[in-house]
Amino acid sequence: MPHTTPRRLGSLAAALLLGLALAFLVPPSPQATAATGDGCYTWTRNLTAGATGTDVTQLQIRVAGWAGYRTNFAIDGSYGPATTTAVRNFQSAYGLTVDGHAGPQTLAKITELQKDDCSPAHFSWSEVDGGCGAGGYAGGSVSATQVKENLLRAMWRAEALRHRMGDIPLRVTSGFRSQSCDRSVGGSGTGQHTYGRAIDLTPTNGNTTFCAIAGQARYTSFTTLLGPGYPDHDDHVHLDIRPDRIFWSAPSCGI
Ligand SMILES: [Zn+2]
Repeated sequence: MPHTTPRRLGSLAAALLLGLALAFLVPPSPQATAATGDGCYTWTRNLTAGATGTDVTQLQIRVAGWAGYRTNFAIDGSYGPATTTAVRNFQSAYGLTVDGHAGPQTLAKITELQKDDCSPAHFSWSEVDGGCGAGGYAGGSVSATQVKENLLRAMWRAEALRHRMGDIPLRVTSGFRSQSCDRSVGGSGTGQHTYGRAIDLTPTNGNTTFCAIAGQARYTSFTTLLGPGYPDHDDHVHLDIRPDRIFWSAPSCGI
């Protein structure tokens, strides 16, 4: 290397370090932010009332938690009045123009909230996978694939709940449980946790109360809500999305 003196090597190294520093300092462009969620799903058209398809289904999974008080929101791939309401509430909650259409602004916000693995910004798969230390999604009452699909729906509702509560951290104490795990913790072995439809939440470091979680959860399309005053639910709020009924009981919270 006859032309590369030690001094030149030094300036090359300095340039390299500067480049690295800039790479960390320069904030990602909006395009780069949107691409983060593209690892999960990308919408290729705007959606509004009357639309049908898998892109509507993907939208519904992410806005279900905004369907309103005491709703059993159907994720059916059909953009009807309930979806319009959910989109309107989502838009209002995130400071967007409220029109009930899933246009560029709304889809960009949803994309911003989702991670490459499809989980919402503030909940992760590792928080909801197999209980009893087993991890994974096997041994439940439905296939592992269905368990994950159900967990995704529960996590997006939990994200809505968290945002409703002022974006405070909520702790997941139980998500999916295999049938044997469910029995070992006193469950029936076929409860909603074994379907991946249920999530148990508690405050984090006293940042809120069980009753506040239960109260706000009534607006987030969880069809079962069990909290303080219901047997064995004084130390967590159980929320699930079983499709066939709405049942709430948290007597100590007046619910
Ligand atoms: Zn539970």
